[in-house]
Amino acid sequence: MDIVSGNLGWIEVICGPMFSGKSEELIRRLRRAKIARKRVQVFKPELDNRYSREEIVSHGDSRMKSEVVVSASEILGKLDWRTQVIGIDEANFMGEDVIEVAQQLADTGKQVLIAGLDTDFMGRPFRPIPDLLALAESITKTLAICMRCGNPAKHTQRLVESEDLIVVGAAGMYEARCRRCFEPGMPKQDTFEFARPVKTS
Ligand code: ADP
Ligand code: ZN
Repeated sequence: MDIVSGNLGWIEVICGPMFSGKSEELIRRLRRAKIARKRVQVFKPELDNRYSREEIVSHGDSRMKSEVVVSASEILGKLDWRTQVIGIDEANFMGEDVIEVAQQLADTGKQVLIAGLDTDFMGRPFRPIPDLLALAESITKTLAICMRCGNPAKHTQRLVESEDLIVVGAAGMYEARCRRCFEPGMPKQDTFEFARPVKTS
């Protein structure tokens, strides 16, 4: 986070695939805001109750206390007017209202830190994150490690059969993959050319 003077609001977005460290990075920045004695509130969507209702939790088990909201507009109702920094995790599960809410908060002098998936299981831009990227002061793209080849990975590969846009799940249901190894939707093949044993004749 940059240093600004006065109560200038802004929007900061951390985006990337699953397992890329978005939650870890969000927690790290929010911890620093607390060290700077800023008042912090953290929200996450009701849909994401994988690990805890009261905390945001990273895959590496970093944790921070948070409040659950059903929709983004609920954030406005739950906001303490003294809060200076607002963290929102898994914003891709919050619906498009989060765009208007983030703008409103930033316009009234709040620092809004948002983490979310930027692409879906088909590799398409995943609203509302692309919109937030365009409206933000600062954007960070995090990459994971491809589970097939070890290269930096920008995709979230779905491993279970479903055509639904949102299927909440963690390890076993999704894995990170690079551009070359990613297969939109469900993987169709198990072994790739480069992974097959070389034939000797
Ligand atoms: P995100 O919020 O982007 O899903 P998290 O912050 O929850 O990511 O988790 C990041 C952590 O996940 C890493 O620090 C690492 O310990 C773990 N991890 C598991 N699989 C991978 C992977 N394929 N690439 C990178 N980190 C991974
Ligand atoms: Zn790969």
